[in-house]
Amino acid sequence: MANVGIHPDVDGGLKKGSGLFAGGTLTCECTTKPVKVKINGDIAHNHACGCTKCWKPVGANFSIVAVVPTQAVEVVENGNKLAVVDPNALIQRHACKECGVHMYGPVDRDHPFNGLSFIHPERFEEEGWAEPAFAAFVSSIIEAGYDPSEMDAIRERLVELDLAPYDCLSPGLMDYIATWAAKKSGVLAA
Ligand SMILES: [Zn+2]
Ligand SMILES: [Zn+2]
Repeated sequence: MANVGIHPDVDGGLKKGSGLFAGGTLTCECTTKPVKVKINGDIAHNHACGCTKCWKPVGANFSIVAVVPTQAVEVVENGNKLAVVDPNALIQRHACKECGVHMYGPVDRDHPFNGLSFIHPERFEEEGWAEPAFAAFVSSIIEAGYDPSEMDAIRERLVELDLAPYDCLSPGLMDYIATWAAKKSGVLAA
C-alpha cells in the first residue's frame, strides 16, 4: 500500500500536531522574493483534498488544506506577486504568479464558509500544526487523470493513514452546511 501516493507530507505517516500551534508564516516556493502570509492564530478542519482546484505540490494526488478566519490572514511580504486564480470561484484563491502556490483563499459570499480562508499548512515555516483529519473529494482525483481502477487502493491507503475518505466534505462539515441552508430557508429556527 505504501506505493500509493497521497501527498509527500503524509505518505510516511501522519505527523501529529503539537496541540499548541498559534499560527505562523506561510511562504511560497520562490527562492527570491517569496510571498509571505502571516496567520495570526490556529488552523481548523485540516484535511486532504482530491478536488482539481486546490494547489498540490508536484507529484501529489491530494492537497493538504485547512481553514482560518480571514481576519487572521495578513500578507506581509511581496503581496504584489499575488493574483486571484478564478474570480468566479467561491474560494478566491490568491496564488503566487511566479511559483503557482496558493497562499490563501477567502470566502466572501453569502455562504456557510463566509469569513473563512483556505490555506495550505505545509507552507508554514513553523511546525506543530494539527494533522489532517479526513480526506475530502476523493473521487475527484479521477478528474485529474487518476486511474479509476486504482481507487480501491487509494481509499484503503487513506483509511490506513487515518484519513477517512469521503467523496464530498466530512459528515460534520456537510451537516454544518445543510444546517446553515435550513436556517436560511426557515425550515429550522435560526
Ligand atoms: Zn512564489
Ligand atoms: Zn480541494
